[in-house]
Amino acid sequence: MERLETATGMRDSLQEERTEVEHSLRALIASRDALVSQIDDQLAEQRARQEAAAAALPAELVALYRRIAARSGGLGAAPLNGRRCGGCQLEATATALAEYAAAAEDEVVRCECARILVRGGGA
Ligand SMILES: [Zn+2]
Repeated sequence: MERLETATGMRDSLQEERTEVEHSLRALIASRDALVSQIDDQLAEQRARQEAAAAALPAELVALYRRIAARSGGLGAAPLNGRRCGGCQLEATATALAEYAAAAEDEVVRCECARILVRGGGA
């Protein structure tokens, strides 16, 4: 009789623990789903901004960017930071730097890694 009471007590205790774990699990799943939903919203917003930015650029340049991005891990353009390509992190040669400097402001210049280099101040 005493063994039955002990076993029943253990069972009840385990059922309570199980219920607590299930509640925690449900809360975690709800939290995960909310975060995934936020990420989806942010991605949609980012895609819309990207599309709007692309619409303002020449179609040929956007097509070039997308071809390079597809081959370069999603990054079709990168800033030229001093001598360094922000995409591949390689330093441009003196010859390449001279070519970048001689290029017209609206000319598309590309790194050896193929990415479009975005020239700004300091380049
Ligand atoms: Zn590069």
